[in-house]
Amino acid sequence: MATVIDGKASAARLREKIAAYTAELKAKHGLVPGLATVLVGKDPASEVYVKNKRKTAEAIGFKSVHVELPADVAQAELVAQVKALSTDPTVHGILVQLPLPKGLDENAVLDALDPAKDVDALTPYNAGLLMSGRAHLVSCTPAGVMLLLKEYVGDIAGKDALVIGRSLLFGKPAAQLLLAANCTVTMAHSRSKDLPAIARRADILVAAIGKPEFVKADWIKPGATVIDVGINRVEAGEGKYKLVGDIDYDAAKEVAGAITPVPGGVGAMTIICLMHNTLIAACAQNKLPLPSSL
Ligand code: NAP
Repeated sequence: MATVIDGKASAARLREKIAAYTAELKAKHGLVPGLATVLVGKDPASEVYVKNKRKTAEAIGFKSVHVELPADVAQAELVAQVKALSTDPTVHGILVQLPLPKGLDENAVLDALDPAKDVDALTPYNAGLLMSGRAHLVSCTPAGVMLLLKEYVGDIAGKDALVIGRSLLFGKPAAQLLLAANCTVTMAHSRSKDLPAIARRADILVAAIGKPEFVKADWIKPGATVIDVGINRVEAGEGKYKLVGDIDYDAAKEVAGAITPVPGGVGAMTIICLMHNTLIAACAQNKLPLPSSL
């Protein structure tokens, strides 16, 4: 029976450290880290994500700035708003909630974002730094996964790691981080052949696919660490819904050595890693050090 990786508890510990250092920055340097969120349109899931990010930022002691724009906003207006936030000295991190409504060019928006404030690490500059072994701001969900691996597995050098999914937001940066931690990394995607056989070799199996319970227990090497990034809303009967991951959790936990639940695993780490990135960005922009515990 696998150890259940408690993302909620890890996130709570990191949150405490961030809040404590935020209070210290304010008291000693008069610096209040500022996080700006930009929401375009009225997608209900995006509204919930942004609301939670703003609430967490405020609870931690950050300044929270919010820009809301209609779905039919002109591309130039959106770019102008992002540029204005990029030059606002009280804003240290900017998060543009993706996906944008149809007709808006995400790349043009990312190009308008100051990479020093790119707390989602989606700009080519931050992706390039990660690739070059000089990572500064790292995409939040993969950063959260690495913290969980550090806490629950420790040294992962030499392990066979498989990342299923190759998105810019998760799969690609996760593979780079695992490589930087000296894993032997395989990336799989929808065109990969015989995924179960590839999966059975993995000491660390990371799934970010977006398909409910897609990875089966007999794909998992006994004792492997299984990280489930997927968040899928499925019917639970009587008109109710529940969240499940990309791993067939109940069966997988009988085979794996350690496994993240959904919810309460990786997802719990993502928002707090966004706050961590905002703190890193605020300190870097003000030439202040971060404590080694952060
Ligand atoms: P995405 O952009 O939706 O891409 C999905 C990836 O899965 C693609 O690379 C795709 O391959 C691959 N894929 C699809 N079907 C496959 C199959 N049958 N076999 C193997 N690979 C397959 O991915 P994402 O944005 O990274 O999101 C993935 C999941 O993670 C979603 O459920 C999302 O909600 C969740 N997520 C959670 C968090 C969190 O905070 N916990 C954060 C981000 C994402 P191709 O490239 O070949 O199409």
